[in-house]
Amino acid sequence: MMQFKFQILTRVYFGEDCIVKNSNEISRLGKRALIVTGGRSAKASGALSDICGVLDGLNIEYEIFDKVENNPSLETVKAGGIAAKKADAGFVVGIGGGSPLDAAKAVAVLAVNDIAPEQLFSNDFKNKPLPVAAIPTTAGTGSEVTQYSVLVRRELRAKASFGTPETFPAVAFLDPRYTQSMPQDVTVNTAVDALTHCIEGYISKRSTPVSDIFAREGIRLFGRSLRRLKSGNIPCADRENLLYMSMLGGMVIAHTGTTFIHAAGYNYTIFKDIPHGRANGYLLSEYLKFNYEFAKDKIDDILCLMRMDSIDAFDADMKTLIGSAPVLGDTEISQYAATTAAKKSTASNIRPVSAEELEVILKRVQGSGR
Ligand code: NAP
Ligand code: ZN
Repeated sequence: MMQFKFQILTRVYFGEDCIVKNSNEISRLGKRALIVTGGRSAKASGALSDICGVLDGLNIEYEIFDKVENNPSLETVKAGGIAAKKADAGFVVGIGGGSPLDAAKAVAVLAVNDIAPEQLFSNDFKNKPLPVAAIPTTAGTGSEVTQYSVLVRRELRAKASFGTPETFPAVAFLDPRYTQSMPQDVTVNTAVDALTHCIEGYISKRSTPVSDIFAREGIRLFGRSLRRLKSGNIPCADRENLLYMSMLGGMVIAHTGTTFIHAAGYNYTIFKDIPHGRANGYLLSEYLKFNYEFAKDKIDDILCLMRMDSIDAFDADMKTLIGSAPVLGDTEISQYAATTAAKKSTASNIRPVSAEELEVILKRVQGSGR
């Protein structure tokens, strides 16, 4: 019997100039803002200048916290929380890729709750987080429409996420022009991340009929832009296509979560400094092969939506896009497999997967152990 819940608690505005055209949304959020961003993306994309123009026009005061690193740490969001308190911010504006957007959600909680950042993972906050306006400058994480904030726990050498219905951004402005300044490697890595969200969500035990509609459309749209992604010549129409696809992927995982690709990918990021989307991409083909007998119809559908003849053809395209995974030593493989098997998200994989099976998958990912 069909049973599901579907809700996205973020108001989404998509299209050129959507911030300026919908500035009334900003005026509803509060009187003072903290802008949370990285060192480069907000300025390079043009988003900072647009939002500052709107804030100035509305007489809303703001401070800028531009210290968010790739894969934000607890230390950074703690500093952001202090900055928000100091600025007496009534709302937070996150500008950037997933890293600043995730940091903005954590800052919004810490600004109004006197807790250590480690307590974010309890998902239990006395005070409602400040509202967040999310402005993506990459087309990948979909963080602008998810409740999740993924943070690095340096003390554990691990990534972990928190999220509640209250941590969905209040509003998201998706202007494809802000993604035009992404370098080619960031464009590819983030597009592959979005594809991974759609594929993991589609095959997940937690998939729903509605999330499947979003996932299938996201996968189809990735296929539509694939040739230009490979060529590195990405016209505006594809930027729009990829940003839309990324948003769909976010809406998918907001309901389904991810599975073992993300759980394993975090290791490549933490221990090998591999960007998030690329790390996930290394695992995609072996993930499809491992799950094939358990989700044959959906995996055939995925290949068909991308106009691929086989998983091997897909694998060849992924190698062209992101190259080969780094070769790990036996101890590293055991360690990655053990932490992946222990992650909650891994339990959502359609086929039960053990640490031993993950070791085999990781060996195959790097071209050994066939
Ligand atoms: P990112 O780490 O936010 O950004 C990667 C790099 O690209 C940064 O150097 C950034 O510059 C630069 N950049 C971003 N936009 C740019 C633009 N328009 N022009 C020029 N440079 C630009 O990358 P991401 O892949 O979007 O985010 C990855 C993070 O999101 C990971 O921590 C991952 O775990 C998380 N994630 C979250 C969710 C979720 O649902 N919340 C889902 C998936 C992944 P700056 O240094 O200026 O920032
Ligand atoms: Zn991801």
